[in-house]
Amino acid sequence: MSTLRIAVVKETAPSERRVALDPDGVKRLLAVGAQVLVETGAGAEAWFGDEAYAAAGAQLLPRAELLAQADLVLSVGPPAEDVLGQLRAGQAYLGLLAPLTNPELVRTLAERGVTMISLDGLPRTLTRAQSMDALSSQASVAGYKAVLVAAEHYDRFFPMLMTAAGTSKPAAVLVLGAGVAGLQAIGTARRLGAVVSGYDVRPAAREEVKSLGAKFLELRAGIAAAGEGGYARELTAEERQAQQSELAEHIARHDIVITTAQVPGRTPPVLVTAETVARMRPGSVVVDLAASRLGGNVEGSVPGQTVLTGNGVRLVGATNLPARMATSASQALSRNMAALVGHLVRDGALAIDLDDEIQRGVVISHRGEVVSPGVAAVVSAGPPVVSSASPSEGQLS
Ligand code: NAD
Repeated sequence: MSTLRIAVVKETAPSERRVALDPDGVKRLLAVGAQVLVETGAGAEAWFGDEAYAAAGAQLLPRAELLAQADLVLSVGPPAEDVLGQLRAGQAYLGLLAPLTNPELVRTLAERGVTMISLDGLPRTLTRAQSMDALSSQASVAGYKAVLVAAEHYDRFFPMLMTAAGTSKPAAVLVLGAGVAGLQAIGTARRLGAVVSGYDVRPAAREEVKSLGAKFLELRAGIAAAGEGGYARELTAEERQAQQSELAEHIARHDIVITTAQVPGRTPPVLVTAETVARMRPGSVVVDLAASRLGGNVEGSVPGQTVLTGNGVRLVGATNLPARMATSASQALSRNMAALVGHLVRDGALAIDLDDEIQRGVVISHRGEVVSPGVAAVVSAGPPVVSSASPSEGQLS
């Protein structure tokens, strides 16, 4: 039997600097018996040079040759048009492909007979899948970077500083949504010396926020909205109204607000209304990690842009923050990729097995069919209407 050839393509999406596999990942894939082909320059923007890949045992090739030879292609996000044009039946394509918001891509890959595998669908609560959890690894990077972005836009110190020129007050930071990204943001803001509060609708988040040394914001409305699989459920209209108006009081007395709230399968909830932003002090900063073309947590935030409001508040529509920490994000993603590939390969070949719980989550199309029931429902329903809980869709990015 011929050796499995795994190819790593260079990303071409605007501002995407990550790479799906780093040189360490090359070694991991060689260890499972695969041959690794890397597109020339694929890791350059994440500071992994071609020579490092070659030293790890990869073969460097131009894109067309690489795709012609590949059995499995690894990429961060969905394929570029030219890559898509070259994929053929029997090949597999693995990345963070946001299938729920990319039904057209799902249809195309299925029709072509390409096996589409997306890390977004991983069953995240399975212990054995944790090393493959790219949503968590990238959310963690996003949460960290969100604080640095906030600090960059904030014209004061984060810590309390006592100098001969006087004492600075510490920044008051509020993190709304205390999942993976939110908890990382809380920890990072604390390390920078801010006074930090966190809030979430899942009761389990209370202890997690406190364990990081932050204060948990208790609302009088007492909303408890744990959903399935550790996620939040969507709030009712009354709950949303109560939450927005009560949060407004707290938000107005904070200098920095970082929002990370998501509900799987729904557009992100609005936590910060335009009226609330109007109550904030000049110089305050709001970073909306949920900002995407599907909406965001903050009224008035624009994906990929920083808006200065009439009352002097900067609203940062933070999209794809992991791409702005390309080295660490790629290293983590590479580990996730290598762990999943290690799980998919049996006796030196891809062994698709839809009875396996992990594979059932990640394999979207196979042998010409959309095999993921959740994605099949969306694909047959037509144009996208839901958030896919994917970093590539701006959810944690
Ligand atoms: P997510 O990106 O779906 O959402 C981010 C946060 O927003 C969540 O904590 C959610 O509760 C919160 N949120 C939603 N609506 C809100 C609202 N109206 N107001 C305030 N907050 C709101 O979540 P995530 O970061 O991907 O993680 C979600 C959960 O999954 C967490 O419990 C996390 O610990 C769990 N998780 C578990 C594992 C594991 O078991 N291995 C791995 C990853 C994540």
